[in-house]
Amino acid sequence: MNTRLRIALQKSGKLSDGSIDLLNKCSFNIKPAKNHYLVKSDELNTDFLMVRDDDIPGFIDSGASDIGIAGENLFIEYQLDNPNSNIEIISRLKFATCRLSIAVINNGSVKCLNDLNGKTIATSYPSTLKDFLHKNNINAKIIVMHGSVELAPKIGIADAICDLVSTGTTLKENGLLEMEVILRSEAVLVGRKGLSPDIKKRVDELIFRFQSVIKAKNSKYIMLHIDKANVAKLKNLLPGCEAPTTLALDGYPDKVAVHVVCEENVFWDTISKLKSIGATSILSVAIEKMME
Ligand code: ATP
Ligand code: ZN
Repeated sequence: MNTRLRIALQKSGKLSDGSIDLLNKCSFNIKPAKNHYLVKSDELNTDFLMVRDDDIPGFIDSGASDIGIAGENLFIEYQLDNPNSNIEIISRLKFATCRLSIAVINNGSVKCLNDLNGKTIATSYPSTLKDFLHKNNINAKIIVMHGSVELAPKIGIADAICDLVSTGTTLKENGLLEMEVILRSEAVLVGRKGLSPDIKKRVDELIFRFQSVIKAKNSKYIMLHIDKANVAKLKNLLPGCEAPTTLALDGYPDKVAVHVVCEENVFWDTISKLKSIGATSILSVAIEKMME
């Protein structure tokens, strides 16, 4: 472990908290500070480069960083701009989920994709939009904005926008209607192809830790008591519960305690279904890490 592993992270924005939270759950103990652009950690001998998200794919491609956490949307835009790039998605991180969508003025003249012919669309992702329009045989003008894209139709510089959406609240607040999703995105770990064996070993360890934390976050450890005769019914109620552990209950020969890890969150309606088949003493516990 001589060379330091370099990881590029977004310094401040929608990916920052999720990235740092995930890394800290993997023992990195990062405490970002305002003007700290290089954060060092002894864990896996790592340097974190705190940069704008737009710079992350290029940093990895050029070798300034080995890996980085970026939005998949940005990775796709970079790939379209740099078809000979040397970067790839090496792990999906299941946070910062959003979609890149075309939105139009509510009750305006654009009602379907074909109506976009001859119109102007404002976006921060021109290559992804251009690719989509080309594939759908639409001839529209693209103008590039690096922020406040929702403003463009209001001030008359565009007929539509193509921007990231998560809840859709910002669109509504600006009198816009989501018309077409052009891609779905989440945070991804991006790496350069052909990393040295020394770096690759640590990157593999990091991916293993990330996936253990992500899997745990989407799982619950369920404990309950139930009649032996009803154990089979549990399998239909609890997703991912193929092989539950059953334990004898002292003094209750017809009952067992069941311990099971469920891959999806167990919501209240599942709990009431469990009660309807006679489950009692139900406990649902968060899991910190899940290793296979
Ligand atoms: P920077 O200052 O680093 O250039 P930015 O303003 O370009 O930041 P952000 O708005 O912080 O970027 O978004 C970063 C990434 O987070 C996006 O590329 C996307 O993958 C994801 N993202 C954007 N908006 C949302 C959202 N509303 N919900 C979830 N994820 C989002
Ligand atoms: Zn950016």
